[in-house]
Amino acid sequence: MSSDLVIVYHRQPYEEVEVNGKTEFRENKSPNGIVPTLKSFFGKVENAAWVAWKEAEDTSNPGFDRVVEIEDSFGKYTVSRLPLTKEQVRSFYHITSKEAFWPILHGFKEKYNYDPVDWPTFKEVNWAFAEAAAAEAAHGASVWVHDYNLWLVPGYLRQLRPDLRISFYHHTPFPNADMFNVLPWRGEIIDSLLSADVVGFHIPRYASNFVGCVRSLRDVGNVPRVKVTEDLIAEGSALSDRTVPTEIHTDDRVVQLGVTPVGVDVGYISQLAETEETKALAKRFRAEVGDSTMILSVGRTDYTKGGADQLLAFERLLERRPELRGTVRLLHVSVSANRNMTVYEPIQRELEEIAGRINGRFGSFTFQPIALISRAIPFNELVAWYQVADVAWITPLADGMNLVCKEYASARSDGDGVLVLSEFAGAAVELGAAVLTNPFSTRAMDFAIDLALDMPENERRARMELLRAAVAKRDTHHWAKDQLAMLSPKNFGDGTGG
Ligand code: UDP
Repeated sequence: MSSDLVIVYHRQPYEEVEVNGKTEFRENKSPNGIVPTLKSFFGKVENAAWVAWKEAEDTSNPGFDRVVEIEDSFGKYTVSRLPLTKEQVRSFYHITSKEAFWPILHGFKEKYNYDPVDWPTFKEVNWAFAEAAAAEAAHGASVWVHDYNLWLVPGYLRQLRPDLRISFYHHTPFPNADMFNVLPWRGEIIDSLLSADVVGFHIPRYASNFVGCVRSLRDVGNVPRVKVTEDLIAEGSALSDRTVPTEIHTDDRVVQLGVTPVGVDVGYISQLAETEETKALAKRFRAEVGDSTMILSVGRTDYTKGGADQLLAFERLLERRPELRGTVRLLHVSVSANRNMTVYEPIQRELEEIAGRINGRFGSFTFQPIALISRAIPFNELVAWYQVADVAWITPLADGMNLVCKEYASARSDGDGVLVLSEFAGAAVELGAAVLTNPFSTRAMDFAIDLALDMPENERRARMELLRAAVAKRDTHHWAKDQLAMLSPKNFGDGTGG
């Protein structure tokens, strides 16, 4: 009970490796992603802790230290490791979170799978997370809970420790009431979220959807008053709301709604882009691409990412415009998901099938129009590819934010390059200067890729300047500052200290 800030995130904030029978905690090699962003808070708060799960055969006797003290380049912090059995992880994470919640959050009702869900296990695991956080938090501390797989933690934590300031952040979209209310546990989830002091979202639309869900689920005689103020975020872009709800007043509390889009570490990416190693890599990649125009697509193998629709759009491009055959190449990076999740196997097969067909139809012995890569590319290589790509083609069907598009703009210090971005990525709200497209429309997809490939240099540069400014305006440091201010004005000031 000694930490002023407790971060509750399901993964541990380091790589744990066995060296000569001894456990070592190594800093994650990858500088990108949410873990380093969250860890950067440790430099701002003296007594900080992190709660995550670790698999154990016997949870009462896990065979590892439940609490470890870590010191790395981010500072000193405590990590509380919650022992979960393989079966608990499968049930709470791979089934309930990924097969029931994930499709609903992203608007894919038809993928929603209720049958295998074991709700008591989800509750039991969330309760255990709440207990572990309560054990770490000092009196009046701030506890920051992340993502939908811990949706019930705020409610349990409030029961255990009414003194805490609780903040919950969604890294995904938040769907509208018609979609969310499919979940049989919708009432419990909303009640839990309304036990928090702050509920955070990437963009205004998700916060408005949340308010819609609250309204739809509360008794008519007990409708919370919802204050709506003018939007401060949406800047002339498709599908963005003009107003943002800022507070929900319930019977016993005021819940603050935070709209803070996650950004990327612009300083770090720009620095990485300028190193000799990255420049040499980019030169090598450019030589490999030759005179061809290069389109880059990066994502995970997930039905939300729209990989197959994009490959089909590429096939149509080569059908529609024979003059481009042999001159345009697509590097399609689709990182294969966790092997335990069978739901992703058919998507992988479909991508391989379409890419194989396109290469068969339009390729030759020396020229393949598509390179499909299913493994993760190290971040420094990715940055080199960003510099080489004439077009970044990022067209998810649904995506909470999408960081790849922001990374692309950050890496283009040469001021050139075209970003084609789905309107259904949260990032579209900030990146109105991209070629925005609707991935559900073949006509819109065809139009957007044509526009990108044919765009004159002056327009490319003008758009890229706007994109880079928008990404720099809300980078990861701005996000951290906003979060700190909301987490606890009392403990950490207003966050302006950086
Ligand atoms: N990424 C990577 N190597 C790859 C593919 C992706 O390092 O081969 C990184 C990418 O740089 C980005 C993250 O994975 O930071 C993906 O984040 P995003 O928000 O775009 O999508 P998510 O996977 O979180 O849905």
